[in-house]
Amino acid sequence: MYRSHTCGELNAASIGQEVKLSGWVQKIRDKGFMVWVDLRDRYGITQLIFDEERSSKELMEKAQKLGREFVIQVSGKVIERESKNTNIPTGEIEVLVDEVNILNTSLTPPFTIENETDGGEDLRMKYRYLDIRRNPVKNKLKFRHKVGMEVRNYLSNQDFVEVETPYLIKSTPEGARDFVVPSRMNEGQFYALPQSPQTFKQLLMVGGMDKYFQIVKCFRDEDLRADRQPEFTQIDCEMAFVEQEDILNIFEGLTRHLLKEINGVDVAEFPRMTYSEAMKKYGNDKPDIRFGMEFAELNDLAKNKGFNVFDQQELVVGIAVPGAASFTRKEIDKLISWVKRPQVGANGLVWAKYNEDGTLKSSVDKFYSEEDLKTWAEATSAKPGDLILLMAGDANKTRTQLSALRMHLGNELGLRKADEFAPLWVIDFPLLEWDEETNRFHAMHHPFTSPKKEDFALLETKPGEVRANAYDLVLNGNEIGGGSIRIHDKETQEKMFDYLGFTPEEAKAQFGFLMDAFQYGAPPHGGIAFGFDRLVAILGGQESIRDFIAFPKNNNGRDVMIDAPAKLDEAQLKELHLQVNYLEETSKNSQGK
Ligand code: ASP
Repeated sequence: MYRSHTCGELNAASIGQEVKLSGWVQKIRDKGFMVWVDLRDRYGITQLIFDEERSSKELMEKAQKLGREFVIQVSGKVIERESKNTNIPTGEIEVLVDEVNILNTSLTPPFTIENETDGGEDLRMKYRYLDIRRNPVKNKLKFRHKVGMEVRNYLSNQDFVEVETPYLIKSTPEGARDFVVPSRMNEGQFYALPQSPQTFKQLLMVGGMDKYFQIVKCFRDEDLRADRQPEFTQIDCEMAFVEQEDILNIFEGLTRHLLKEINGVDVAEFPRMTYSEAMKKYGNDKPDIRFGMEFAELNDLAKNKGFNVFDQQELVVGIAVPGAASFTRKEIDKLISWVKRPQVGANGLVWAKYNEDGTLKSSVDKFYSEEDLKTWAEATSAKPGDLILLMAGDANKTRTQLSALRMHLGNELGLRKADEFAPLWVIDFPLLEWDEETNRFHAMHHPFTSPKKEDFALLETKPGEVRANAYDLVLNGNEIGGGSIRIHDKETQEKMFDYLGFTPEEAKAQFGFLMDAFQYGAPPHGGIAFGFDRLVAILGGQESIRDFIAFPKNNNGRDVMIDAPAKLDEAQLKELHLQVNYLEETSKNSQGK
């Protein structure tokens, strides 16, 4: 038996007991005549004591030779500690050791195994197994487990069945590139890893499973923008015989359950906003509604007043920044450079200060009277003390740019509080989205999403205006879930593939199995998927998902610990019937590496 107790378990009530503990050496304090060792495991830290007067010479020597991160087993007696530590549960006792057994030695770790470590991100990732010994990472993994358990509890109680779907499949269109896997047994053919279990969960509905969920890995070969992972986890769900309303209710319930059980927070009914309203009010389909600064469109109030810069633009739009009338010229200039950075790409900002004394002063006083500025203040709901900021340009672009500024200011002014939760349903997404590059429409969600019945006729005339039965769940400015009511008949699905530019042959080759299934009594169905990593991070009050993932990849999609991806050896390639013949440009890259 390695241990009778964990290192987090013993306390004053255990005094007098003979115990056995196993764990890692966190710290050694050697006073010569006395040695203290902090012994650590997942559950906590227990202080061990070796004392010249009470321990043998041999034992003292053994204790003095211990090193950091050695794995040891000790037997001894729980005694009362002289100087107590009230900060930890085991702080009133220590174990007077009578036997120590070194189970394994350790090299000196490359960074300190402390809450605040001296190890940088790269080093921590390379030795992730050491990083996981640290409380901040360990606790995040435990937290993730807890969220996962609550998800399973809730859905299971609602009669959902967790079903596993395969990873070696054919392409699923979620809008990213596929990771592919060559087949040894089927020469020249490849599996694709699922971007999501989308088609399988729909087939489970045809199969009569009625309510399905799965906490499942998804794989998307995208360029990794900040805080994305090429493999990530979804809470994937599907239900039969449901309308949008049913789905929103069930998953609002799930989210509320999690906020209650995990964060102890009760939230009121989730507000709902249409996609077009979200774009107009926040320039964003995932607005953070923890703070205001809603957009006000100012075309009527700011155009045709002699200020040319505005007159030619499609949209003039403004926000009121609370309490920012006191910003200095320098601070405002900083904001202007911020929006001019290529990442935002705006031309500049026009500002108007609504001073505490009720007067108004702007960067365009030449063109606008104080009366004019007052109308801006009204439209943006600015109060004395606020700063009004205006942008102008192409409507969509300008909204996006102002949205970036709004979020930036939200962060700067501390309006995005981690312990505040503001969920929101965004509904009525467009069915299709114009893609400038390929010059055609793409499914905004995915090709299995059903258009709204009342918009169906528009498909022929104004496809861009057709709304879908599609919805996103937004939490604190993050899209944490998204889904739709699906098409469940062959004809509509065929038509949809046609609109999306698939030839009937292509559609059949890629999704024939689904359309076949629709001919055998497919029930009406719909579903949703939550991004589990992000959800866990937000509930944990953090921005970054990385520490909630045991073994994450870096921004180049590499696992620096196991050093993957890696080349295959010749024998393996041969078995897979492959010959690697790098294209010229890529071979340059791989040589440079
Ligand atoms: N498969 C979709 C996604 O991954 C979610 C859904 O429509 O249920 O975003």
